Amino acid sequence: MIRKIDAHTVREAVEEAYLHCKEESGGRNADYIPYLAGVPAHLFGIAACLPDGSVITAGDTEYAFGIESVSKVPTALLAMEQYSAGQLLHKIGADATGLPFNSIMAILLERDHPSTPLVNAGAIAACSMIRPTGDADAKWAAIRGFIGELAGSEVEVIDELYRSESATNFNNRSIAWLLRNYGRIYDDPELSLDLYTRQCSLGVTARQLAVAAATIAGSGVNPTTRRRVFKAELTPKITALMATVGFYEHTGDWLFTTGLPAKSGVGGGIMGVVPGVLGIASFAPPLDGAGNSVKAQKALARIAARLDLGVFHPTHCIPASAEAATV
Ligand code: GLN
Repeated sequence: MIRKIDAHTVREAVEEAYLHCKEESGGRNADYIPYLAGVPAHLFGIAACLPDGSVITAGDTEYAFGIESVSKVPTALLAMEQYSAGQLLHKIGADATGLPFNSIMAILLERDHPSTPLVNAGAIAACSMIRPTGDADAKWAAIRGFIGELAGSEVEVIDELYRSESATNFNNRSIAWLLRNYGRIYDDPELSLDLYTRQCSLGVTARQLAVAAATIAGSGVNPTTRRRVFKAELTPKITALMATVGFYEHTGDWLFTTGLPAKSGVGGGIMGVVPGVLGIASFAPPLDGAGNSVKAQKALARIAARLDLGVFHPTHCIPASAEAATV
């Protein structure tokens, strides 16, 4: 039976998952970026945004945390918006690495391809693609503005996180220059690295991430502002990327378990997209060994199972308003 999703069923599922997962104590905050180690580990929030723009929340959904790798999704979208999906595939690629997000070996193995804009190498390459080339301030305005449009409200850098990350991002610096070696970075490497570091240091709330996810689910129209943010044809492309590599070396296990295309970040956030149905996000700082939030994964997996959100199921959920789709 196809499950119809309305605000009531989503609220029940979100509240149930929040209560069930609240006491989960597994995982540890990221500490390779010093700021992240100090974020209160008990914080936990879940937010879902429906096609009518209503946002359902439980817990700490107004706390601005480091977006980190979830920012790779908007920048990949912006690169596709400015160029095309085909150009992103050509310049960066869309393959899973099966390796950690910051893997240098993945670059050495692929040589001519950073593989996907959803790992560090591909995300730095995506930052390098953003226009106007060579103009750091204008590129940054484009990236920050785009994320704000997706999320339905402005996003700001957490200065302390940016400083913390800039002072410790030697691995990412190596990646940027290795991309240069292979001709796979399309602007100045240091400029591209700094843009990537800045975008990772943006503060977002779980509510904002849910709205951003719903904008992707809604084929590029933000359901809260009703503004078109990107071309409709890019939703299946970015969702495919998220499904392929959203949890790095744990992506297959996640997708097998939940069927939910989603993207995690070491700040503890996860954003999930069910095209045509809803956007959902959760945030809790302690991470597993691959850098994915333990509690947020548990909560989203629970909600996905309860609401049949998995996109591979022939009878997965539909919005309650979509009567025609049931016949
Ligand atoms: N800024 C972080 C890094 O480059 C992002 C990693 C992540 O969220 N997985 O290491």
